[in-house]
Amino acid sequence: MSNRAVEELVTVSRVAIVTGAARGIGAAVAKRLASDGFAVAVVDLDESSCKETVAAIENAGGRAIAVGADVSDGDAVTGAVQRVADELGPPTVLINNAGITRDNLLFKMTDGDWDAVIGVHLRGSFLMSRAVQAHQTQQGWGRIVNLSSTSALGNRGQANYSTAKAGLQGFTKTLAIELGKFGVTVNAIAPGFIETDMTAATAERIGVPFEDFKKAAASQIPVNRTGTPEDIAAVVSFFVREEASFVSGQVIYVAGGPKD
Ligand code: NAP
Repeated sequence: MSNRAVEELVTVSRVAIVTGAARGIGAAVAKRLASDGFAVAVVDLDESSCKETVAAIENAGGRAIAVGADVSDGDAVTGAVQRVADELGPPTVLINNAGITRDNLLFKMTDGDWDAVIGVHLRGSFLMSRAVQAHQTQQGWGRIVNLSSTSALGNRGQANYSTAKAGLQGFTKTLAIELGKFGVTVNAIAPGFIETDMTAATAERIGVPFEDFKKAAASQIPVNRTGTPEDIAAVVSFFVREEASFVSGQVIYVAGGPKD
């Protein structure tokens, strides 16, 4: 790294916000960013649900706060980002990870199923990014990583979710174009099958034990295993580094094989 790059990093606020970080991929990302030297705001619907992630970070010697906010609620987002700026410093890294599924075949999908999924993934990522970019552009440095999915390529029973995850890829590319001149890169990660409560809930919904569900999934994956939250955290860690400053507007499939 050049001396200039090192100097810039020293003066930039190293504060990260990870949404949906009470558990699953978000919790692993929050812990990884803390071990990479960021103070981390652990954001989730319910503040008390963030305590475990915050405690894990603090026990490992890092710095974190728990913030309760619904990312699809404009006032909650404004308040949360302001609180992070006040308590940790200006947020320069944003990981839009909060997510839900409301799976159903199209003919059975309700208006509520559609609106809830689009609201959390798309409106949530939009609101969070708009609030955080004010700090990033002011700092002249920033990183946004959006969680897409292999479902963006189409997945039976997920018209709402696949639409949201494909939408996030367009969102990523447009923000990369708009924010690049401010030193902000924007990328997306599209995970395949990752072992979390989300995939466990899918197994339960279709009535298959999670272990059998994972085994069946692994048999279709070229590297012959399912993914872990740490697999995703490692790629986030790469995107937020200074040395990744020439990588922007990209979607990386983290799926144990090629997916597009
Ligand atoms: P998860 O275990 O279900 O965790 C998601 C977290 O997001 C939960 O803590 C949840 O809170 C929180 N959340 C939901 N709605 C929210 C809202 N409106 N505001 C704030 N937080 C909210 O999911 P995951 O498997 O870790 O997935 C994380 C991300 O990766 C999601 O965007 C998901 O779509 C994506 N992804 C996952 C997989 C996979 O195989 N697991 C694959 C591809 C992409 P509550 O617990 O209170 O609901």
